[in-house]
Amino acid sequence: MILPSRVAVGKCQLCVRGGARRRDFYLDEATQIRMQSWASGRIALVGDAAYCCSPIGGQGSSVALIGAYTLAGELKLARYDGRVDYRQGCHAYETHVRRYVLAFQALAFDSVTNNSMITPDRFNGIVNSITLEDYS
Ligand SMILES: Cc1cc2nc3c(=O)[nH]c(=O)nc-3n(C[C@H](O)[C@H](O)[C@H](O)COP(=O)(O)OP(=O)(O)OC[C@H]3O[C@@H](n4cnc5c(N)ncnc54)[C@H](O)[C@@H]3O)c2cc1C
Repeated sequence: MILPSRVAVGKCQLCVRGGARRRDFYLDEATQIRMQSWASGRIALVGDAAYCCSPIGGQGSSVALIGAYTLAGELKLARYDGRVDYRQGCHAYETHVRRYVLAFQALAFDSVTNNSMITPDRFNGIVNSITLEDYS
């Protein structure tokens, strides 16, 4: 059960009291990670650490894998003077993946704030909106 925060506050005590009596009760907050940049120097983040979408919209594992694949591929392409140009590689990674991540974050956010179901059309539209580069 996912509740908007204004409802959740009122229901929280009730849930915790009821849940404490059950062995299969799971309670956690659903959060998103939003960062201006996913890289600094030679350090780059992928997956939940950089852009957790929250389980509400799904696709967290897929987005993490797409990010890791793209970062590795762009670092492979980003060569300058026989060396890896980390800045260029990380910039290209963000350019390719950020729009996709933002779409999934908006999907989850809209679903909670509007208390509405995620429609297959919108979900599939985002899933199919990215084309992975062939870095081989
Ligand atoms: C309830 C729930 C349901 C979900 N359902 C789905 C789903 O159906 N489909 C989907 O695609 N995604 C789903 N997700 C999201 C998905 O699990 C995550 O988006 C995905 O696991 C992110 O991968 P990650 O490698 O970035 O992070 P993680 O999988 O969290 O991996 C991070 C790893 O780092 C380790 N770690 C942390 N701190 C340290 C440290 N200091 N030193 C060493 N290691 C450390 C952790 O133990 C962990 O193993 C769900 C998430 C939740 C919580």
